[in-house]
Amino acid sequence: MLFPATNGRRFTSRHYKIYYWIEYSVSKDKIFCFPCRHFSANIIASGKTAGNLCFVNYGSKCKIWKEQTLSLNNHQRCKTHVICVQRWNDYLLVKKNHSLSIANQVNNVRQQNIIENREHLKFLLKAALFLSKQGLAFRGHNESDISKNIGNFLEILDMFANDKIKLRLQARYGNYTSPEYQNDFISSIAQCTRQIILNSMNKFGVYTIMVDETKDLSKKEQMSFLIRFVDKELNICERSVGCYGSNPYYFLKYCTFFFTSVLWTL
Ligand SMILES: [Zn+2]
Repeated sequence: MLFPATNGRRFTSRHYKIYYWIEYSVSKDKIFCFPCRHFSANIIASGKTAGNLCFVNYGSKCKIWKEQTLSLNNHQRCKTHVICVQRWNDYLLVKKNHSLSIANQVNNVRQQNIIENREHLKFLLKAALFLSKQGLAFRGHNESDISKNIGNFLEILDMFANDKIKLRLQARYGNYTSPEYQNDFISSIAQCTRQIILNSMNKFGVYTIMVDETKDLSKKEQMSFLIRFVDKELNICERSVGCYGSNPYYFLKYCTFFFTSVLWTL
């Protein structure tokens, strides 16, 4: 291809092989620098150096084309150009391998964070499950820093949690280990346990409900709820499904919930 001639000399495509970064504009008959045009943001104000201005803003066009090589070589050595080429290469690398992109790395960190949070929560749930199963108290009389025994739940975490979980625990102390969270764990475990009991019932629809009332240590009336049924292997089972305060309102609420669950399951 023949490019426009000036003073009998013209641009040659051989330049593309030597200077891979150049762009040639046929309409303007000028040479521009691709990386400097696209990747020079925040380096220096455009046009501060003669070389930069020449290849970015108005293009390079030597009146005598044989001096073009000198101009290209000078630009190639200029510091701004070197930085722009490095940015261009980085861009190409990220485009080729998406795992190197910032968005992807941020997303990976988030995913890792979610995994670690779940591990943390799993440990707390296991501790709550152990105490619930063994019928042990969660809380201690004194859970302050000076206490020698901060209660079963916190003591288990202190004794068995690894350093990573402990570090997270310290960062969120009072959140995932506060009494409110402990009650949430107990409530979730109770809900799952009740569901497992209901699922194990035989579909005959025959069961007995036993209710009894007694006072607990704090002299509060508690209504215990037991269910007797035949499971899917035809074994006779008797399971406790809850112990509720005998406040008539809550009792009615729990009874409604329970019967709805049983009837819905069967
Ligand atoms: Zn350049």
